[in-house]
Amino acid sequence: MALIDCPSCNKKISDKAAQCSHCGFGIGAATDDDMLRKRQMQKFKRSQSIQTQSMIAMLMFISGFGFMYWGDTSPGDLQYNIAIGCSVIGFIWYIINRIRLIFVKKSD
Ligand SMILES: [Zn+2]
Repeated sequence: MALIDCPSCNKKISDKAAQCSHCGFGIGAATDDDMLRKRQMQKFKRSQSIQTQSMIAMLMFISGFGFMYWGDTSPGDLQYNIAIGCSVIGFIWYIINRIRLIFVKKSD
């Protein structure tokens, strides 16, 4: 008996089980095509959510910068620090999401 990942919820289940004990997904009823389609769908959804997150991160980065220059702030101001914080977090978050996206695309 081997353990496989449920194509629906990704939890470990027995390959002998007719359906997933976690989410009830019918393994036996699904053909290989169904499984493949389901996996591709999951991958698509995951990369979509990462893309959304990297867009938010990018916005944070840009608005942090905008705030810093356009907000008439000077170094040391609370506003300035918040703006820098936003840019830095946005930038790092963006990079992390790009890396995650590469890994999602690689995992086949
Ligand atoms: Zn499941």
